[in-house]
Amino acid sequence: MDTVQITDKSSYFSPKLNTIDDAIQFLESHNSKKYNSFKKYDIDRIIKLLKKTNQEIDTLNENIETTTTHMTHIKTQSDKAKKIGKAHTDRIEIFTKLFRNFKKLFEPEYYLDGGVNGSWIRQLFELPYALANNFNEIGFGNPLGHDLDLVLINNIQIDMNSYNTKFIKVMKSFQEHVTLSAVSELINPIIIANKILIQVSDNTLIQEDIKESDPVGKKVLVDIPHYIFKFKDLEDNSIFEVDILAHKPQSREGWTTADFNVNQYILNETGITSLYNEEYWSSSINKEDFFDFFDFLDSIKKREAICKIDFNTLLDNTKRWGLLRKEKVGYFMQIAFLLTNRFKILNVGYSNITSKRNMIDYTINKTEDCVITGCQPPYYEITLKCLHKLSLMCFIGILEESKFDSSEAIRCPICRSDFDINLIEKKPEEQKYFELKNMNDIIKKQLENCYLEEKEESKIQSDDSEEYIKSLINKKTEPPRNINNQLPRNVDNQLPRIGRGRTNWDTS
Ligand SMILES: [Zn+2]
Repeated sequence: MDTVQITDKSSYFSPKLNTIDDAIQFLESHNSKKYNSFKKYDIDRIIKLLKKTNQEIDTLNENIETTTTHMTHIKTQSDKAKKIGKAHTDRIEIFTKLFRNFKKLFEPEYYLDGGVNGSWIRQLFELPYALANNFNEIGFGNPLGHDLDLVLINNIQIDMNSYNTKFIKVMKSFQEHVTLSAVSELINPIIIANKILIQVSDNTLIQEDIKESDPVGKKVLVDIPHYIFKFKDLEDNSIFEVDILAHKPQSREGWTTADFNVNQYILNETGITSLYNEEYWSSSINKEDFFDFFDFLDSIKKREAICKIDFNTLLDNTKRWGLLRKEKVGYFMQIAFLLTNRFKILNVGYSNITSKRNMIDYTINKTEDCVITGCQPPYYEITLKCLHKLSLMCFIGILEESKFDSSEAIRCPICRSDFDINLIEKKPEEQKYFELKNMNDIIKKQLENCYLEEKEESKIQSDDSEEYIKSLINKKTEPPRNINNQLPRNVDNQLPRIGRGRTNWDTS
């Protein structure tokens, strides 16, 4: 290029100057030796300036890129927050509308004292923490993808047969309405929160659906009328399900209605109530199983779920005399069911599961494949009483295959000892209270590490007779008692002084 002759215009081949790099290259190759040093110097300066400009443009581009990434991130976050917010408000609307309508259909014949329970109430209270954390914890405070669980009746003292008949009748009229609204324009479909009710299906478990080895938690649902309402979102076509159970199942053999303290609340027309208070006040649950609303808030803050299941009782059931193997399997399967279905709370922000009672000895293997089944980590491991560890897959495998075993015993596959789960202590942290100090504490502190001078004397009266006389005299001079029926105390917490400087009466 540096041989271009500028004298002949027609033969001049104009270089491409589309970029700064082109310009730099052009100038560099044209900074001919023929130029004088001033001109050369100027061209060098222009090249330098162009190079610097180029660098600045690069930095700017990089900045724009980071900003764009950041903006996209913020947009994703705010979209997520908006979606979660909408999921919550939709649930509020759907729940209140449905429940109000159910009440109108059932009352005054039946008073619906149930409400919405399950994870949603927990998520409502997780929400402020999730917001404070930019929804960074997966699943925390986020109800998307979870259905809404309604239980219409908590008080199961009523005549269940006629109530169940009424419940089924009401559900069937919903079913009929949905069908009619789909075929006739004269019938308005049921739409709540821009979601249209498209299906009402019967999901009631009957005895024939149940195997002996099914977990207790499934068995308690047998014959409780159970319907699912499916709503389709008119905007994005997503399906939202509402689970409607006619009444609360009865708790059985160590199996409670709520698995964790964070899942024990129910929301209805009166507000938020504990599923447990009723049972507690009727004294059918132990005081140690009682959790108040402050515990609930604390647990959410600490991302700690306190397990309410009484594993001692559950496992004691497996040791009952004369129990058939398949019945035993049912109880063990309950624990397997618990780990697979209930401990899912560990997937939605909770990092710790504790218990005021004993806890099953479980761990999560995050590193190795299961040696027996070859399954990849992570998976649960259960420690048996003999301290052999089994993966949950292996645990279930043994229970399932033992159905074909002729003996009634279930054994550890490694040491052949009786199959039993180890229980350990995993207590929640003790609540800390203020320790209020008063004057006494200072005086006591000053009296620490000192002692009274010893006095030498021989005793004329026995201790017994001395005490007796003391009690007689004290009786006479007893001061009036205060409202708590306690003697008024002085600052140093001694009984009132009689005379100068002496406490009570002393015989010396
Ligand atoms: Zn063993």
